[in-house]
Amino acid sequence: MSSPATQHDFSLRALNTFGIEARAQAYLPVDGADTLRAVRADATLAALPRLVLGGGSNLLLTQDFAGLVLHMRGAGIEVVGEDEDFTYVRAAAGENWHGFVQWTLAQGLSGLENLSLIPGSVGAAPIQNIGAYGIELKDRFHELRAFDFAAGEVLTLDRAACRFGYRDSVFKHELRDRAVVLDVTFALPKRWQPNANYADVAQALQEKGFSDAAQASARDIADAVIAIRTRKLPDPAKIGNAGSFFKNPIVSAQQRDALLAQHIGLVSYRQDDGSYKLAAGWLIDRCGWKGKTMGAAGVYEKQALVLVNHGGASGADIAQLAKAIQDDVMLKFGVALEPEPVFI
Ligand SMILES: Cc1cc2nc3c(=O)[nH]c(=O)nc-3n(C[C@H](O)[C@H](O)[C@H](O)COP(=O)(O)OP(=O)(O)OC[C@H]3O[C@@H](n4cnc5c(N)ncnc54)[C@H](O)[C@@H]3O)c2cc1C
Repeated sequence: MSSPATQHDFSLRALNTFGIEARAQAYLPVDGADTLRAVRADATLAALPRLVLGGGSNLLLTQDFAGLVLHMRGAGIEVVGEDEDFTYVRAAAGENWHGFVQWTLAQGLSGLENLSLIPGSVGAAPIQNIGAYGIELKDRFHELRAFDFAAGEVLTLDRAACRFGYRDSVFKHELRDRAVVLDVTFALPKRWQPNANYADVAQALQEKGFSDAAQASARDIADAVIAIRTRKLPDPAKIGNAGSFFKNPIVSAQQRDALLAQHIGLVSYRQDDGSYKLAAGWLIDRCGWKGKTMGAAGVYEKQALVLVNHGGASGADIAQLAKAIQDDVMLKFGVALEPEPVFI
C-alpha cells in the first residue's frame, strides 16, 4: 500500500465558512475507505492527530492544526432500494448537503425538503443530527457506513447505534476521533406528508396562496424554507459565520416557570420529557448583544444566535465574543449556553 501524498502547511481559510485563517500541518483529500486504510498503514501519518473536514460550516478554528486534515471529497448519490413504504437513497460523505436534498426533490422524492439550504456535507450531517423547521436528520435516516480508525474496518451503523439526540450523536462521544463517515443512506417515505408545523413555513406557504399546507408539494416547502433562510441567515460566501453559534438550552419545567415569572416574553418550547427548550437567540437578544461587535467579531444584526466574522477576525476573537455572551446570559438568566460548532 503506497503512502498517501499529503500537502503541508496548508491554509484552511477557504475551507471554513467563518473564513478564518489557520494552517494545517498536513492535508489530504479523501475519496473513500482505501485512502483511510493507507493513512492507518503509514506510521508517520497514523501518529498525527486527525481532523475530519467536510464543508467547514460547523467549525471554529482557534489555532493552527498540528495534525492531519482529512478532507472528505467522495462523491456519488444513488437509489439503493425500496419497499412498500420507503425509497432508500445513499449519498457519499463528500456530497454537498443542499445539492443532495435538491437531487432527491428533482427525482420526485420527498422527506428532506425542510432541511434545504443547510450548508456542509452529507457525511457531517449525522454528526450533530442536523435539524431545521421541524425535521431532524434522524427522522429520515436509515444507516451509514463509517471507517473505524481503531479497528481499521468499515462499520455499518443503524439509527439506534448512532444514538441521535438534539445536535448530538455517538460520533460526539464514543466514536469521536475514531469513526469517519463514508456514506449515509436515507429512508424517504413514499407517502407525501408535508411538515409545515413551523409558523414561518406555514406563513410563507400562505403568502404563496396555499390556504391549506396539505396542498403544498415538497418543492413548495423547500422553496419556502429556502426563502426564509435566505432572508434570516447570513450567506457565508458574503459574511463569515457557522449558523447558530449556541444550542438552545434545555431546562427543567421548574426553572422555566421561575424564569418566565421574572422575564415576560421568554420563548420556550415544551419537550416530550416535560423539560423545556429555551430560545438561545432570545436570551442573547435580551442581553443587548444583537448587532454588537467586538473588534472584527460580531453578533448578526438580524439574528442574535449567529456570530459573524466582519472581516479579519481570528478564531480567538470569535471565541472571546462567545465567552462574553455566555457570561452575560449566565449572569442575567442563570442559564449556561453551549456552543454548537466544534472548537479546534
Ligand atoms: C449559514 C449556516 C446555517 C446553518 N444552519 C443549520 C441548521 O439549520 N441546522 C443545523 O443542524 N446546522 C446548521 N448549520 C451548521 C452546519 O451547516 C451543519 O452542522 C453541517 O452538518 C456541518 O457540515 P460540514 O460538512 O460543514 O461539517 P464540518 O464543519 O466540516 O465538520 C463539523 C464536525 O463534523 C465532523 N465531520 C465532518 N465530516 C465528517 C465525516 N465524514 N465523518 C466524521 N466526522 C465528520 C468534523 O470533524 C467536525 O467535528 C448551519 C451553518 C451555517 C454556516
